[in-house]
Amino acid sequence: MTDYAFDAPPLTTVPSTSTKPFPVRRIFCVGQNYSEHAREMGSDPQVDPPFFFTKPADAIVANGAVVPYPPGTSDFQHEVELVVAFSGGGRDIPAARATELIFGYAVGLDMTRRDLQAAAKKKGRPWDMSKAFDCSAPCAAVTPKAGIGALAKGAIECKVNGVTRQRADLADMTWKVPQIVEFLSALVEIRPGDLIFTGTPAGVGPVVRGDEIEATIAGLTPLKVTIG
Ligand code: MN
Repeated sequence: MTDYAFDAPPLTTVPSTSTKPFPVRRIFCVGQNYSEHAREMGSDPQVDPPFFFTKPADAIVANGAVVPYPPGTSDFQHEVELVVAFSGGGRDIPAARATELIFGYAVGLDMTRRDLQAAAKKKGRPWDMSKAFDCSAPCAAVTPKAGIGALAKGAIECKVNGVTRQRADLADMTWKVPQIVEFLSALVEIRPGDLIFTGTPAGVGPVVRGDEIEATIAGLTPLKVTIG
């Protein structure tokens, strides 16, 4: 066992529904991957290739936990997303080979300080403090892909206090999972343990302390968190 200057931080893991926990290496996120959401953010959904941002691995929040309302914002918003978990990887992965590298799928929330994101966009500054802050990535258990396959369609929904805020179908994604993998692996080497949050449908909106968020995708473990 290696000695360090102080106790090494623990590895972040996400439970799996039927195997050992999934060890998280990095979190990549796709921006504006549903056309109705791109429009609600003021963009033209048809023109650009997918773009990516990241969150630290330890931004993961376990299913059922409390997500602390973060400091520095007065517009904390939910974004329900399909999360793809990788047990394989590589560079320059063609779309046709993407599915074989996938371990499984989960329901995630790309929690966002929307006011800080808007300010960053306006000034052309990085998104990190609007997207990559502490506890910004709640994620439910990973369902191994066996029996699911490519998971290209199915309802995706987000309720706040029982009221539906976001509702769409995975088939509405502008860039499908295999294409996302092709684009991302042309920029970085995907590695086992990486997660991709694949973008959110329209209907994003604010939450306040005490709100209960329930995020669901057909066939996957529902994600429930409370804002604290
Ligand atoms: Mn998002």
